[in-house]
Amino acid sequence: MSGDPDVIVAGGGVAGCAAASCLATLGWSVLLVEPGQHEERRLSGEFIHPACVADLAELGLLAPADIARAAPLRGFAVFAEPSPTPPMHLLYRSGDAGRSTALALDHGTLRRTLLDAAGRIERVSVARGCRVVGLDDGAPGRSAVHLARGGQRETVPCRLLVAADGASSRVRDMAGIAHRRHGGARFSGYRIGSEALPAPGLGHVFLGAKHPVLAYAIGDGAARVLFEQPVGPDRRARPDECTAMLPAPLREALGAAVSAGGGLGFAARHVAVSAVVRGGVALVGDAAGSCHPLTASGMSMAVADAFRLRDALCRASGDVALALRLYARERRAQQRARMLLAALLHDTLGGTAPAMEFLRDGLLRYWMRSAGGRAASLQLIASTETRVHAVLHELAWVALHGLCRPPGGLSGLARQVGAMAKLALPIMRLTTDTIRIQ
Ligand SMILES: Cc1cc2nc3c(=O)[nH]c(=O)nc-3n(C[C@H](O)[C@H](O)[C@H](O)COP(=O)(O)OP(=O)(O)OC[C@H]3O[C@@H](n4cnc5c(N)ncnc54)[C@H](O)[C@@H]3O)c2cc1C
Repeated sequence: MSGDPDVIVAGGGVAGCAAASCLATLGWSVLLVEPGQHEERRLSGEFIHPACVADLAELGLLAPADIARAAPLRGFAVFAEPSPTPPMHLLYRSGDAGRSTALALDHGTLRRTLLDAAGRIERVSVARGCRVVGLDDGAPGRSAVHLARGGQRETVPCRLLVAADGASSRVRDMAGIAHRRHGGARFSGYRIGSEALPAPGLGHVFLGAKHPVLAYAIGDGAARVLFEQPVGPDRRARPDECTAMLPAPLREALGAAVSAGGGLGFAARHVAVSAVVRGGVALVGDAAGSCHPLTASGMSMAVADAFRLRDALCRASGDVALALRLYARERRAQQRARMLLAALLHDTLGGTAPAMEFLRDGLLRYWMRSAGGRAASLQLIASTETRVHAVLHELAWVALHGLCRPPGGLSGLARQVGAMAKLALPIMRLTTDTIRIQ
């Protein structure tokens, strides 16, 4: 089951495969442990921003043939009004990390592709059907990890245990790292034919209901429609109530997919952790905290974690304790920025309070008027800009655009200033929460 690894990676999702590949480049032997999932029933990340595509290719996890099978996407079309009003386009700039196209492909296919590729990397062994079930965490550099496969158990010593076992990480608990779950959202996803999408080559964001609806091609002539269903008193809302703003051909294709059954569902909560390292354990990807998927930043973060861990080990010349401290420090800014952005964007696009409507109007006006604004927003969404103050800077521009051209003269302006003032407290609270994120 084990061999004699330097590092054990728990979890063969995008975070685990990227970590295994990165650590193998240091000359470390890696055991990647994956119990297996019902991938065809799982709704999760499919949209990969350009920089993350480039990183996965560099790590040998996405080959040109895999890239050719996926749907290439140049950015997003935002439909703020019912058609025929043309959508706003947020396009990746050529030169962003050497690539200007994102990719999307079915999550199950993506997972299988990455795990198969990880298994072919020199110094990486994949133990399928195997899970981490316990940990004797000594000092960094001296952990003992309990593995189980079927009825078989084994204790394996290693220098480092990487917990890449997702948002509900058990390894995180085993390491004694506390976490807090808050918020919550239920998502439904349906597969349709990509010919029903009105803006080929782009990801689609439809505004106009309580939550935005996302749609994108996933290769092989197929597309995914993904939407959030309300939790709370109106939790029985039917798909057609959440998707009434879609253009007719897309609504009909979705209606047919709903009637045929077979949709995927997922209940996600935000997870904040008290630490990302302890003893000889490092958390990566969703195990180290997750947020609302609206910005599609989870996989970018997971892959960036793998590179940061490798670089920290390099800089610390293999001193695991020092490397883990460096890793924890280096990842904080990006995690804070993406958590803040996801919360702000979700509240802005879905909030019904006047203050949120004010922000939404400001955001749409900002995107409509400013090419620089659209580019800056996309850099934040795609995680090529990872500083908290950049998020706050963009928020200030959005608020200023909210004040422009108020409906109803002076009284309108007074209402908008009032709405902006009401934003101060929630934004201060959100920013304070962000500063606590590890
Ligand atoms: C509805 C939805 C849509 C999303 N869309 C996007 C998107 O478009 N783009 C994007 O970038 N992100 C998106 N995300 C987020 C993205 O899916 C996650 O951030 C990403 O999949 C996290 O990868 P991971 O490897 O950290 O965790 P996971 O993918 O959850 O993998 C964890 C792995 O650990 C394994 N495991 C569990 N327990 C153990 C154990 N004890 N021992 C060993 N292994 C174990 C599991 O079997 C699993 O394979 C979305 C999320 C949701 C919920």
